[in-house]
Amino acid sequence: MAMSEQKTSKEVGTIIDGKAVARNLRDSIKHHVDVLIEDHKIMPGLAVVLVGDDPASHIYVGSKETAAKRAGIRSFVHRLPKNTSQDTLVALLHKLNKDKKVNGILVQLPLPKQMDEATILRHIDPAKDVDGLHIENVGRLAAGMPGMVPCTPLGCLTLIKSVEPNLTGLHAVVIGRSNLVGKPMAQLLLKENCTVTIAHSRTPQLSHVARQADILVTAVGKPGLVKADWVKPGAIVIDVGITRQDDRIVGDVDFLDVLPVAGFITPVPGGVGPMTIACLLGNTVAACCRQNELTVPELR
Ligand code: NAD
Repeated sequence: MAMSEQKTSKEVGTIIDGKAVARNLRDSIKHHVDVLIEDHKIMPGLAVVLVGDDPASHIYVGSKETAAKRAGIRSFVHRLPKNTSQDTLVALLHKLNKDKKVNGILVQLPLPKQMDEATILRHIDPAKDVDGLHIENVGRLAAGMPGMVPCTPLGCLTLIKSVEPNLTGLHAVVIGRSNLVGKPMAQLLLKENCTVTIAHSRTPQLSHVARQADILVTAVGKPGLVKADWVKPGAIVIDVGITRQDDRIVGDVDFLDVLPVAGFITPVPGGVGPMTIACLLGNTVAACCRQNELTVPELR
């Protein structure tokens, strides 16, 4: 049944509870970590590298550290000063690549100005690249080959499939074309047999393009960009955007305006955000299994 047929009888959209989906995923991850520890005497390890003093980055890294520990994953956080040289960071990455206790490596972005992000990411072993940003993993995703997939789009796909398991033939519109979110999101939806449109800041008639979507993913960072008349009745709306406004964070979607039109919609906060960290833990467990030649569990 087409999404629009399926949802038109509903008066308001159903809110997708990202916290609940993420909790289930984390429980499943914890179970598999327990199995790795008990049956194989292997404790997965995640190294997170943070350079500089960006307050938001410190909060994100703290949350990753806590979530890893709760899941039974050993966490190694390297906090480096803002003036760290690129060579020093590269040397640390080479050390982590060789460290058998470390299965996953994440460099928190953005990096300070003296560093070139693309160069730094190339120094992470692709097998440990749990953020999926190494060029080899980018290529693998584009070629439809198995590899590490960036955590935020992976989390979005899990949320979409929690309400619609079969995406074949649906039209997905992704607003935003970053390497971190927009492009890998589009690749994942293509792999699910969606017809995919990528829209961005230069797309004319964006509201018209968005309104064609059975699945609308917005990853821009502009609060209130998506209004009710941008959304096809019954569509699945996934709001990746995060903007700090005063004391709160808001997404790209005018939530209260869109809620009665959408079939399903993620809130901000409590939608995509919790999934990003859960998927990071999932990628770490998967990396650990592959490195130890064990079957990668299906985590959901
Ligand atoms: P980015 O700045 O790299 O990319 C933004 C994209 O939006 C660009 O491709 C640009 O073309 C497009 N864009 C800009 N203005 C536009 C407009 N007016 N209309 C249409 N498109 C426009 O950002 P990013 O790293 O992809 O992140 C996007 C948003 O998602 C940000 O708000 C970021 O904070 C958030 N984010 C959230 C999570 C999470 O876990 N929830 C993770 C990563 C990023």
